[in-house]
Amino acid sequence: MEPFQMQKKSRVPYFVLALWQEEYPHLTVGFSAREEDSSSMCHNYALHVEDQPSRVVENRESLMRDLSFSLGSFTCGEQVHGVDIAYVTRVDRGKGNRDRESAFSNTDGLFSSEEDILLASFYADCVPLFFYAPDIDVIGVAHAGWKGTVQKIGPNMIAEMVAKGADRSKIRVAIGPSIGACCYEVDEHVLRPMKDALECHELPSSIALPTTNYKAMLDLKEANAQLCKQVGLRDDQIVKSNYCTSCSNEHFHSHRRDKGDTGRMVAFIGKRVRS
Ligand SMILES: [Zn+2]
Repeated sequence: MEPFQMQKKSRVPYFVLALWQEEYPHLTVGFSAREEDSSSMCHNYALHVEDQPSRVVENRESLMRDLSFSLGSFTCGEQVHGVDIAYVTRVDRGKGNRDRESAFSNTDGLFSSEEDILLASFYADCVPLFFYAPDIDVIGVAHAGWKGTVQKIGPNMIAEMVAKGADRSKIRVAIGPSIGACCYEVDEHVLRPMKDALECHELPSSIALPTTNYKAMLDLKEANAQLCKQVGLRDDQIVKSNYCTSCSNEHFHSHRRDKGDTGRMVAFIGKRVRS
């Protein structure tokens, strides 16, 4: 079953990770969508693309209203296809919400124990990784393109959570909608570091299906799942979306499909204030 479910009654289109929200009712977890036949910047949430900043902030405000959070709680990193992860405290609340300058610089992963902070990151094919450590009630999100994947941002986040006291055997990981193996052909430039990261001479067919000229169709979601298992997570701690952002034109922006002229979806995770 698809773990990401389209929210039906919202004014702004987005998916929720229903599985986690049912199990942990104080969590808000999901991934935004766009509308079919819309402009390339429809429901764009990122400031680093060709869009009017004021419109991006308005889009963020609308989504926050639907999620019962405020723009003041929207907190994000700069995203540079790196592996740096920041721990978000109360004083960091709202960093990057209205301008890129105040976002966590050089940061692709965020985690926090604070309530009323919505951790956000932006996507148009890369893999959104969501984390939750229920025993210490810590949330996280990480941006994993192929570079972040081979540099192991997923395992890095798990290590950060364990360092904060999380029991590794309880950590949950959700791998969100991203480009699928159906649409993601890559060459040795990507395959070689992927083999190094996964510590294998040949990538298994579940991760890469060879095509021609030393190229292969790569499953970045599965690669991230395998990397999490490499650091001790079990299958039942990981859920994975089946959505391909390139195939599902009606829901998602896709950098590859739209040749770069595209907005960004936002992945979000937050803890609502418990009364
Ligand atoms: Zn596809």
